Amino acid sequence: MRNPNVCRYVMLGLIIIGLIVAGLSAIVYGVDKMHPLFVVGVVIAFGGIIFGIVTIRCPFCHRQLHLKGIVPDSNCPYCGSKFE
Ligand SMILES: [Zn+2]
Repeated sequence: MRNPNVCRYVMLGLIIIGLIVAGLSAIVYGVDKMHPLFVVGVVIAFGGIIFGIVTIRCPFCHRQLHLKGIVPDSNCPYCGSKFE
């Protein structure tokens, strides 16, 4: 069973990594012209958001769970099923 709480951590991790990569690129190479590393960072961060939208779902009723915050859900708010 895929745990939506784990998927949420993965999503947050990807977003943070993407922002760090984009931020480092802006610091190291400046923002006058867009460096490829900045684009890579933004793509990683957006990829994390898309990953979250696709995967952070109840494994039982497949409804979208909240994406915000790091507080894990212990139950599905829709069908009440317990997550591992
Ligand atoms: Zn559910």
